Amino acid sequence: MEQLAIFGGEKAKTTPWGTGKRFGDEELQQLKEALEQNTLFYFRGTKVNAMCDKFKKMYGANYCVATSSGTAAIHVALGAAGVTEGDEVIVAPMTDMGSMIGILFQNAIPVFADLDPRTYIMTAESIEKVITDKTKAVVVVHLAGNCAEMDEIMEVARKYNIKVIEDCAQAYETFYKGKRVGTFGDFGCFSLNDFKHISAGDGGMVLTNDEQNFYTAAKFADKNYDRWNSRNVHDGQIDFIAPNYRMNELTGAVGLAQIDRVEWICSRRNELGERLSAGIRDLPGVLIPEIKPHNKSSYWFYMFRIDEAAAGVSRNDFADALVAEGIPVGRGYGLFCAYDYNFFRNRSAYQGTHAPFDSKYYGGNVTYSKENCPGAELILKSAISFNINEFHTEQDIDEMIAAIRKVSAYYQSKK
Ligand SMILES: *Cc1c(COP(=O)(O)O)cnc(C)c1O
Repeated sequence: MEQLAIFGGEKAKTTPWGTGKRFGDEELQQLKEALEQNTLFYFRGTKVNAMCDKFKKMYGANYCVATSSGTAAIHVALGAAGVTEGDEVIVAPMTDMGSMIGILFQNAIPVFADLDPRTYIMTAESIEKVITDKTKAVVVVHLAGNCAEMDEIMEVARKYNIKVIEDCAQAYETFYKGKRVGTFGDFGCFSLNDFKHISAGDGGMVLTNDEQNFYTAAKFADKNYDRWNSRNVHDGQIDFIAPNYRMNELTGAVGLAQIDRVEWICSRRNELGERLSAGIRDLPGVLIPEIKPHNKSSYWFYMFRIDEAAAGVSRNDFADALVAEGIPVGRGYGLFCAYDYNFFRNRSAYQGTHAPFDSKYYGGNVTYSKENCPGAELILKSAISFNINEFHTEQDIDEMIAAIRKVSAYYQSKK
């Protein structure tokens, strides 16, 4: 039996991790052109517009609105969907704050749908379970590059007449039944923050196929000004408030160049993720992420789970052993599911008040507790995550497989 590195043995990872440059001459050229326009305003320049054109063509969508972040993209979609005070919006309990911020800034109430512990994604069933007469929309989070079963979700959404916003911040080039996610719901939202598959520093995009949705969203990202139908925006009426979430031309320039890289990045991550799964799928108590045969994941990160009884070791000890082997893994998806954040438990989303939970427009009684989401709790307690990256080499993945197999074999021998 090979001695584990955590007990003084040799590390399984012996070579440095592959690295590479995310930005190059293409980004520089676009930035130069953007500056030479003598304006960095999206409505006068060409870069944000060209980025949107390229992205919507790639996705086969009719319209794209650029925003200042992924959080902004989701807020814009919520605003365009008409989400307002008194509404409930269903969302996943394991996600980035960006999935929830817009809901609360619209003074609406987030309601959590449980996750399938094999795919880490909400299901049509878990969504339907929490629908009430106040439900206006659902934010479907395609976590970690895997995707939701959109046909079933759209069926439930139509049945109850609720809007569907796809949160694709972690799911560029993720395919559901051969078609990219972000094009099934009413809106598909993407992030260009620096941790995502592609980066423009920060930024976001909203896809939609509906012309009315596009105009409402475009205005909602720009103070509700109607730049399309008025010569001077200050001449037009404003019926309700919207934030300023505009993207500038420098961001658009980098985003435009980055979109050319996204197919390669995602297909590479898909190869590496699949290679990793294939290398560990037979291990007792090691549960690989389930990607259904009709789907394709772009593995924004790679998350697997430990069944402690079958593996003969706790999730935490397994993760610590891997770190000692030279594999920088993390536990779960952070330490909390979203409903355990203080601002939900204490109803303190707004400092010093209980808004919007005590709104006179609401009158519902949402509960935030672990009992509502046993699937998400199971994932939180049993998951190990790894930031897979397009610059990783086959050798990196093979050494990671070797490390997982080594730790697994050690604890199997102790059973
Ligand atoms: C990153 C992320 C967001 C927010 O995007 P930002 O650009 O950081 O605002 C929203 N949802 C999910 C699932 C994310 O991963």
